[in-house]
Amino acid sequence: MNILVINAGSSSIKYQLIDMDTELPLASGLVERIGLEEGVVKYKTFVNGEKKELKETFPIPNHTVGLKRVAELLTDEKVGVISDPSEIQAVGHRLVHGGEAFTKTVEITEAVKAKVKELFPLAPLHNPANLIGVEVAETVFPNAKQVGVFDTAFHQTIPEKAFRYAIPVEFYKEMGIRKYGFHGTSHKFVSEQAAEYLGKEDAKIITIHLGNGASMAAVNGGVCVDTTMGMGPLCGLIMGTRSGDIDPAIIFFLAEQKGYSVNEISSLLNKESGMKGLTGQTDMRDVEKLLDEGDENAILACDMYAYRIKQFIGSYAAVMNGVDALVFTAGIGENKTSIRKLVCQDMGYLGIEWDEEKDKNRTDGVHEINTDNAKTKVLIIPTNEELEIARQTLEVVK
Ligand code: ADP
Repeated sequence: MNILVINAGSSSIKYQLIDMDTELPLASGLVERIGLEEGVVKYKTFVNGEKKELKETFPIPNHTVGLKRVAELLTDEKVGVISDPSEIQAVGHRLVHGGEAFTKTVEITEAVKAKVKELFPLAPLHNPANLIGVEVAETVFPNAKQVGVFDTAFHQTIPEKAFRYAIPVEFYKEMGIRKYGFHGTSHKFVSEQAAEYLGKEDAKIITIHLGNGASMAAVNGGVCVDTTMGMGPLCGLIMGTRSGDIDPAIIFFLAEQKGYSVNEISSLLNKESGMKGLTGQTDMRDVEKLLDEGDENAILACDMYAYRIKQFIGSYAAVMNGVDALVFTAGIGENKTSIRKLVCQDMGYLGIEWDEEKDKNRTDGVHEINTDNAKTKVLIIPTNEELEIARQTLEVVK
């Protein structure tokens, strides 16, 4: 079976076609700059170990034009990997916010679409774009089943004492103000692999997803019991451009002292803060260059970045009454040694002992980086959200 995985944003569509017999991608790519003067379609194939890559630039006024071009490329005589769009049996959509309505992956029906629409206020940037992706896929791949995989679903097991905020009850009851959490697909994917690696179904695992967005989850016996993001993705860890946790009083102070509007404060905390605010650089590779030059802001920023992670490790070890493994994943988690080192430093009390040699000698898949005698495993596990979406889609349609 071939499953197309789609992650639609307001001006982009990420896609990957996966052959579920091998679980390998047949093709992947990105449509970007939708609605702007010049759109871009990027396309890569991997058939028979042979890699082909192309990039096209032309006006892409809307998502339909973009996805239709992807369908043409997938079935193209020269670069295509299937002969007809009907060879795609299912489309798995990344849907960001499922609120309390969706605790698992579902086939997308009219009722599901209506519910996703109802949740627009909770994810105004993501859900509308995700829904456009669904509607366009329905027209471009009419024979395929459409399936929705929610970022929030894995976190729906978090107990009420952890997901509620201490504000008047009606704001939860009437408006759904509570912690939801995100990156659920990734936390699920890597925590399951970690449990399998440990050979322990009831393992207590702390997953640390460090990409441009970053979050952690406490997973006890396969069940998520807490996570660092909240009603939206702004809180918890320090990220590329997001502040993570700050004292909410700062918001009022900025409004009062600077006369900032809600939009200005939102933009400051979401787009100008985090590593960008502290160092001027969003991408960790650029922060790394500053570190090499001995830049003091960059040194402090990395210390702060790791300190915040450490705080949550302590917190999650406490709420789970122990920890069997830490899992580092996503762009920074998988690649940045110095952050893993800083996080694991002076954590002997929790049985966490980082091994520099093991960290240096990376292998594919689950890779252990703790000392031989450490009580707690420290693992690097590459995340693969597309594959996890495809697997869950397969479960629903088979
Ligand atoms: P997202 O999916 O959230 O956009 P990724 O998981 O791709 O993000 O992670 C992006 C981050 O990972 C960027 O900050 C990038 O600098 C960092 N990153 C990727 N590769 C490396 C590397 N080799 N060394 C250090 N940082 C890296």
